[in-house]
Amino acid sequence: MIRSQFSKDNGNDPEQRLVSSLTIEDDEAENSLRPHTMAEYVGQAKIKQNLEVYISSAKERNDALDHVLLYGPPGLGKTTLAHVIAQELGAQIRVTSGPAIERAADLAAILTNLEKGDILFIDEIHRLNRNIEEVLYPAMEDFSLDFVSGKGPMARSIRLPLKRFTLIGATTRSGMLSSPLRDRFGMMLRLEMYTGEELRSIVMRSAKILGIPIDPEAALELALRSRGTPRIANRLLRRVRDFAQYEKLDRINLEITKKALGLMDVDELGLDVTDRSVLEAIIDKFGGGPVGLDTLSAATGEEASTIEDVVEPFLIQLGFIARTPRGRVCTDGAYKHLGRKPK
Ligand code: ADP
Repeated sequence: MIRSQFSKDNGNDPEQRLVSSLTIEDDEAENSLRPHTMAEYVGQAKIKQNLEVYISSAKERNDALDHVLLYGPPGLGKTTLAHVIAQELGAQIRVTSGPAIERAADLAAILTNLEKGDILFIDEIHRLNRNIEEVLYPAMEDFSLDFVSGKGPMARSIRLPLKRFTLIGATTRSGMLSSPLRDRFGMMLRLEMYTGEELRSIVMRSAKILGIPIDPEAALELALRSRGTPRIANRLLRRVRDFAQYEKLDRINLEITKKALGLMDVDELGLDVTDRSVLEAIIDKFGGGPVGLDTLSAATGEEASTIEDVVEPFLIQLGFIARTPRGRVCTDGAYKHLGRKPK
């Protein structure tokens, strides 16, 4: 058991990367770490300020909140925020996702079962089929469902009223949404990567819930290697806790944190083998770029969507990769980080 937790295998499998922001199996445990209220939800100050105003005025009017689109890379807290909004509104939340809805009738059934003020959360909303998506247009705009009953000359269009609900959609990239769908959201909120200090307070809070004391310097070290992403911070914390327990320590200190992260191959900036292989491919195989996404995907064996959604945002944020009209290029910073001489 301990061996498999500590092993560095599957370094190239995005589902298994420790610093991947995608959900992996042990993230079930992350549910216990989810904040429930706006006050517990760390960071994203601008979004929280806006939401607080809209939530309190919706409550005052006794009306449903306007539809909200949350977008940003995986693991930044979109699902958590949807639950927090429901909690603050005192509303029920129904959770589904784009790929889980296979037929228009499934979505119609979900919508007709919503009560006034309920929240419908659709994760990965950009993955809804277009014909299913069309069911949402009148539902979002006029709170109604449009049906065609019968065929040929006998066909009649029927309008079914729905209760006033709030749709919260989550997507990794708002650009992947069709514009008719995007236009129907009253609020489009972009989640930002978290600062080291914000992640440190998330790590401290999570350690408390997990029941293991952690030194502030150790929490900061974890925070700084978490790619600005709470999901990664919590995941690294759980792994470092395993190392601490294995070494019979009663608290997580800086030394064990650095040792564990080193053994997990997570470097000082939070980059792992996959990040480094993308940078190395651009530098070694394509002379530093520019290189197109598909070519890069073929050269590294990573899915293009994984590179774009999971690997690249943080490398861009660090200033290691720049996107140009002709493709991705590596900057001097990337060369230096890998110990190479800039071109
Ligand atoms: P997303 O839906 O954007 O992929 P999640 O909402 O599932 O991300 O967040 C991943 C985990 O990170 C959550 O389980 C939660 O523990 C933690 N988390 C996310 N955002 C915050 C936050 N603002 N404050 C504290 N913890 C957070």
